Amino acid sequence: MKGFKSFADKVTVDFEPSITGIIGPNGSGKSNISDAIKWVLGEQSAKALRGSKMKDVIFAGSDDRRPKQVAEVTLTLDNKDRELDIDYDQVKIGRKVTKDGKSDYLLNGQRCRLKDIQELLLDTGIGKEAYSIIGQGKVEAVLNEGSADRRRLFEEAAGITKHKQRKEESEEK
Ligand code: ATP
Ligand code: MG
Repeated sequence: MKGFKSFADKVTVDFEPSITGIIGPNGSGKSNISDAIKWVLGEQSAKALRGSKMKDVIFAGSDDRRPKQVAEVTLTLDNKDRELDIDYDQVKIGRKVTKDGKSDYLLNGQRCRLKDIQELLLDTGIGKEAYSIIGQGKVEAVLNEGSADRRRLFEEAAGITKHKQRKEESEEK
């Protein structure tokens, strides 16, 4: 994360296998880390990121720091097992936004569409709507939702979302 919310300078968080716990006082930026992950995975709703405008993710300055012009987040995934259908040991998913509203998604450093990232991550459980991020209230939401909505979660886990989406796309044509 660089220039993202409270992280003015570049901050790297390593997620090792097993559990990573993030602890710190209130307001120290713990939730900003999960916001960064949602954002890089394509979150479009400023409200879901606890802001009012998308540009609110850019470091707004503090008593002793000037505001930043750019926010960027890169999520590096280990792909040695080729779980993602791309022939790289490491996959870097990035997103950048500037104060003047320019916005880019990046895949291994190359500009791409959000759709390219979404397609790559389909059926992996990773994604802003997938189950790799279980936010506050999400467990209740899943338990309370109707069977059609809940089915989406099982389809993602079973790995058939991709095929369903391709089928729908070909039927539209
Ligand atoms: P809690 O324990 O209360 O949940 P937390 O560790 O999750 O706290 P966060 O909500 O991640 O804390 O961080 C909140 C802090 O991030 C606030 O101090 C807020 O001012 C700061 N912050 C949020 N957006 C920006 C921004 N664009 N620029 C600078 N600081 C920001
Ligand atoms: Mg918090």
